[in-house]
Amino acid sequence: MADQFFGHIIDNVEVESMDRARFDSINPWSQEKWADVALGGSPEADLAVTAARRAFDSGPWPRMGFTERGRLLHRLADLMEERTDELATADTRDMGKPIAQSRHDVARAALNFRFFADHAKLAPAEALPMDSGHHAYTRFEPAGVVVAIAPWNFPLMLESWKVAPALAWGNTVVLKPAEDTPASATILGRLAIEAGFPEGVFNVVHGYGPGSAGEALTTDPRVDRITFTGETSTGRIIARAAAANLTPTSLELGGKNCNIVFADADLDNAVDWSIQSIFRNAGQICLSGSRLFVQRPIVDAFLSRFVEEAEAMRIGDPLDPTTEFGPLASEEHYQKVKGYIDTVAAEGGRMVSGGLGDGWSIKPTVLVDMPPDSPHVREEIFGPVVVIQVFDTEEEVVQLANGTQYGLDAQLFTDNLHTAHRVSARLDVGTVWVNCFFVRDLRAPFGGVGDSGVGREGGNFSREFFTEPKAVIMQINQQPT
Ligand code: NAD
Repeated sequence: MADQFFGHIIDNVEVESMDRARFDSINPWSQEKWADVALGGSPEADLAVTAARRAFDSGPWPRMGFTERGRLLHRLADLMEERTDELATADTRDMGKPIAQSRHDVARAALNFRFFADHAKLAPAEALPMDSGHHAYTRFEPAGVVVAIAPWNFPLMLESWKVAPALAWGNTVVLKPAEDTPASATILGRLAIEAGFPEGVFNVVHGYGPGSAGEALTTDPRVDRITFTGETSTGRIIARAAAANLTPTSLELGGKNCNIVFADADLDNAVDWSIQSIFRNAGQICLSGSRLFVQRPIVDAFLSRFVEEAEAMRIGDPLDPTTEFGPLASEEHYQKVKGYIDTVAAEGGRMVSGGLGDGWSIKPTVLVDMPPDSPHVREEIFGPVVVIQVFDTEEEVVQLANGTQYGLDAQLFTDNLHTAHRVSARLDVGTVWVNCFFVRDLRAPFGGVGDSGVGREGGNFSREFFTEPKAVIMQINQQPT
């Protein structure tokens, strides 16, 4: 029985859809419906963009200045921290992430609001005294109405990477969370109202993608920016839709990332991070090191410790604070990942550990001997399935690592500083982690190469996207008046 309802947030009011249509949010652990959600489409998208447009064109938000906007964004972060349990439980019930990880995500999401509030206020703008006697400076004008489309794997946290910088720079926002993880977005909207945000500044519309709220939002000509995170194939559709209106678009897409362990690496550290990289969030991380390359001299030692740690992970009810590993986010996603498990032997590979679990769970799964052209090596599985490959030389592993259309991130483990710098420079990816994983500085660029995305988020990179940089050039009278 559903005991909760999550509506759209439009113009600071939580509402049903106009036709009162709803959809179910299913808890993937219990496989039962836990909430009713308003199912939006074109009419709700239209209302939300109208509200955001009005708030941008004639409301106080873009005009109130960084200090006052920052005060409200910090107030929202305070409320998020106070309601950590409510937000974390919502994400866990929606998509099965272990509650300890969901709590961590809420903390990071709140921090994102604080960071971008402060960054917007403190970021310096260029001033250029010119030889001609003129003076040029740059103003970063808010872009306007921002549509943010989010995936389900880190619901609140990924939404905050879009919503926080967009709001901090004076834009108004319409957020469409993924249909599998709608709840925390509505809660965020409720908290924004409680924090005192003006009407129409932050709106949330629920619904699906094609023929639904997602498509309506990304084809609306009144929208000034689209920021999207999700599958590469969806990114292509959104880029085409945006091109019709010449709407600038930022795309954070899929990955098939390499994790390279050199023979001189600290083995304990390499095993620990490699486990996190592929099995955290049940492998549903765009950044996960799903292609794991191990140098030949340490293969046996690495593999036995890696499998031992994988098999020791505590699988269970995601609401139990000791659980490390939950189910996959939905039945549809479980069926997709199961397809890869079912075809390991037929493709010529071997499963060393893992396989199907209970319900919609896939155990931490380790594959070896997979042919290089098998789907397991080439395609993003987006589950707890790692393909281990052996390499001999640095040259060989760089070629293998770059042999994919994706280029989101890479991890490499070595105690040799020269190897670390050399290989980092040669990998065609947006982020390289050396002897670590998942550490982020919000001032650094984040994004993908090739099919992994277009554009960068973070610090000044977010400023570039969410503003219209304007040059002002003044003539200075050379004679005192
Ligand atoms: P998805 O592309 O299926 O959906 C993402 C969002 O797009 C959802 O809100 C969905 O409703 C919406 N959508 C779908 N079709 C649409 C359309 N035609 N028009 C407008 N909106 C549409 O992705 P997903 O399954 O939710 O997420 C998993 C994917 O996201 C994986 O490929 C993963 O690698 C990627 N991802 C990337 C990053 C990154 O930073 N690069 C981060 C997290 C996830």
